[in-house]
Amino acid sequence: MQQDLQTNPNQQMENATTTIVQTDVGAKDGQNKCPKCGATDISLNTSNGKLRCNFCRHEFEPEKVEGLETDISKLQGQIIGSGATNIVADTNDVITFKCSSCGAEVVMDTSETTTARCHWCRSVLSVNQQIPNGSIPDVVLPFGIPKEEAKKQIEAFVSKRKFFAHPKFKEEFTTENIMGVYFPYMLVDINAHAFFCGEGEHQTAKYFRGNGEQQRAYYDADLYHVEREFDIAIQGLSVESNLDKLNNSQEKTNNVINAIMPFDVENCVKYNANYLKGYTSEKRDVNVDQLRTLVDTQAKDIVRFAANETLTQYDRGVAWSNEQVDMKGQQWQAAYLPVWLYSYQQVKGEHKILHYVAVNARTKETMGSVPLHMPKLLGISCLVEILGIIAMFFINFDSNWLFLLVGFLYFFIMFMKYRNANARHTYELETKKNIGNLKEVDQLIQSKTGLTSSKMEGANNERVNGTKGNLLNALTGEQVGNFVVDAVTNTSPLASFVKENIENKGDNKQ
Ligand SMILES: [Zn+2]
Ligand SMILES: [Zn+2]
Repeated sequence: MQQDLQTNPNQQMENATTTIVQTDVGAKDGQNKCPKCGATDISLNTSNGKLRCNFCRHEFEPEKVEGLETDISKLQGQIIGSGATNIVADTNDVITFKCSSCGAEVVMDTSETTTARCHWCRSVLSVNQQIPNGSIPDVVLPFGIPKEEAKKQIEAFVSKRKFFAHPKFKEEFTTENIMGVYFPYMLVDINAHAFFCGEGEHQTAKYFRGNGEQQRAYYDADLYHVEREFDIAIQGLSVESNLDKLNNSQEKTNNVINAIMPFDVENCVKYNANYLKGYTSEKRDVNVDQLRTLVDTQAKDIVRFAANETLTQYDRGVAWSNEQVDMKGQQWQAAYLPVWLYSYQQVKGEHKILHYVAVNARTKETMGSVPLHMPKLLGISCLVEILGIIAMFFINFDSNWLFLLVGFLYFFIMFMKYRNANARHTYELETKKNIGNLKEVDQLIQSKTGLTSSKMEGANNERVNGTKGNLLNALTGEQVGNFVVDAVTNTSPLASFVKENIENKGDNKQ
């Protein structure tokens, strides 16, 4: 790791002036009445994201939160939505309402729900004013995908993973009990200034030396001194804000829920409890300060990848020796984002593993984990391995020892395809950002010849720090699968080697 922490961004924002913006202005607890007919039975119409009176079908225009900074490049200091302020530990979750229709007292546990029916007159009462227990965010992104569509997505995902699925799972799998859940996230807008300095390499030639099996590739490259300085506005960086989902333990496949991001968070609307009717929600249990390190690390990754868009000529990579990101302003909002969730608990002796298949209820992006039938996968991987070893003896190829890996590779690909253990949100590429006032320095230092590596030594412009899985960077089963397909379909030596192998196998059968 290099010395890129001359200024600690954590410190920077912790000591910045903080403005709290009240986001529940005008919100009313108790009965929310339809202005047309006075009914209180109001819920979300998923086809257009609007609230609708279930009695007279009147639809409400969604409200936006007011008072927040919309031009991120103007952000200074720290702005926090009132729904994102610190949770107060001894908040009483239970609220008692007097029903305005019949006068009865209705008790509601706000850690569980924010709407309830009056037992006597059946009016709906809701909590829209913020309480410092994390259950009422600033904004909500309404469900946009109905349950039936989510079921189809989940079924399609699982049906592609039936062969090695655990028999008990196959027997018990049903999408009847999928749940619509609003999970808590923090949305962070960031205004920053970046300065990067280092060296980059551009390939000028590639050629081969030696004959036959001794042949080797060599590269020529121009080495440059590189500087990039720019302003950057990052919009809606989204991080989970409950401990359960931030936890990367082995017992839960939380990473698949992370992987269905991004959401179209720019379409979030002002919180109203009626959006949650018919869905469940999980309340936020972490504060801004606990998420600062994660957010700042991810923000730096986003800035580094933004710089990469100006570095396309350095096809061999850039080695930064100095990376400075000055946080000028941050704006935090608490949000509920919509997820359709299928869950399945696998019991493996002492261990319990919770598998999820999650569908982004805005974009339909789907990711999941399917319990494997290990004996079958191991058995077939062994078979593949044996075939590989046999092939090794029949095929006259210099690197035919590679066949020894075939069984392991097969196991790995299948394991990744079912479990998706390294699937994650590629926030460094998918978060919205804008750069401005770009200053570039590119000075030729020297031309190098006869290099043996296709990449620059020490290149670090594509590293990602804000994720635990950064060793196998987003290497999902499907991506590994695609890699193998690419290897077969393109014309590299490896590809012709694999093709030969496949053709020979076919010949052996005859
Ligand atoms: Zn009505
Ligand atoms: Zn009542």
